[in-house]
Amino acid sequence: MNIILLGAPGAGKGTQASKIADKYKLLHISTGDIFRANIKGGTEIGKLAKSYIDAGKLVPDEVTCKIVEDRLTWDDAGNGYMLDGFPRNIYQAEQLDKFAKVDLCLNIDVDEKLLMDRICGRRVCACGESYHVSTLNGATTCAKCGGELYQRADDNPETVKSRLDTYNTQTAPLIDYYKKQGKLATVTSGEGSPDEVFAQIIKILG
Ligand code: ADP
Ligand code: ZN
Repeated sequence: MNIILLGAPGAGKGTQASKIADKYKLLHISTGDIFRANIKGGTEIGKLAKSYIDAGKLVPDEVTCKIVEDRLTWDDAGNGYMLDGFPRNIYQAEQLDKFAKVDLCLNIDVDEKLLMDRICGRRVCACGESYHVSTLNGATTCAKCGGELYQRADDNPETVKSRLDTYNTQTAPLIDYYKKQGKLATVTSGEGSPDEVFAQIIKILG
């Protein structure tokens, strides 16, 4: 099964993706993670992506689509995957339909008022886990792997505003796109705890 995770920045896509990956043995492909790895590695893609990411804008479609198309040809993508952060606009969705078969789009719906606090309070680990300062009780390391937690460079109020704007204008129209294809499933409890949200996802995925 190939799934798309849709939702605003801070909706909890990454958190749910790691739970879904564990339970359903689906490969988790995050375009944001791929870009951040490229930035860290100092690659050409990383250099190009950084300016867009820092501004809260989308990395150009040609670059992003090519990365995903390539990634889906790897052997490990043959048994089902979850796309987190792709597609992010209609053009990307149309391209995806040309090189992949999408079975389901899981849309995690969260009250927009919560997003700014969620993102600015987010602390992440290199292993992929993320936390919110309000539940860390001062801890600075990852409960899962012991790694040092840090704040993503684009998790600052100014960039977040721009990311939310990009989401509303470019990404939100995908809800209708997948609804028309009969592939949309909406997770309405997005404001709940990670476990509550995951419980609803399990009901949808069976
Ligand atoms: P979030 O969902 O919290 O905004 P991501 O890690 O998914 O975080 O994305 C971080 C940034 O990476 C985005 O703001 C954007 O600049 C870039 N990016 C990720 N996915 C895409 C995509 N499909 N197309 C264009 N840019 C992307
Ligand atoms: Zn960790």
